[in-house]
Amino acid sequence: MTDCIFCKIVDNDIKADIVYQDNQATAFRDINPAAPTHILIVPNQHIESVNALGAEDEQLMGHLFRVARQLAAQEGIAESGYRMITNTGAHGGQTVPHLHIHLMGGQPMKYPMG
Ligand code: AMP
Repeated sequence: MTDCIFCKIVDNDIKADIVYQDNQATAFRDINPAAPTHILIVPNQHIESVNALGAEDEQLMGHLFRVARQLAAQEGIAESGYRMITNTGAHGGQTVPHLHIHLMGGQPMKYPMG
């Protein structure tokens, strides 16, 4: 999608602190971190939100969780723990309409957020 900021990050058209990329997923540090570790994990293909997921995306979503698990270990927060959040739509607080998982940790996370 041409006007999607996360598509542009995936395609390297705009700069981001990319910490992981493969042929299905890209992970980069949130520009406005809410925790010492705050990474966004996105599918490379444009999927607007959880509402747009189909049966064909089941493997992809599992892959995003495996990437999150690997990044948590790399960041040294696997044992201390972390939070993964996916916001959907206006009431969910989604501001970027490209599906993403927030991976946050490095401190106790307060709940609920927002
Ligand atoms: P959400 O509100 O769940 O849609 O999350 C969007 C997240 O994207 C927010 O935490 C923003 O700080 C983050 N964000 C927006 N633009 C960028 C960018 N160019 N690079 C990294 N993170 C971004």
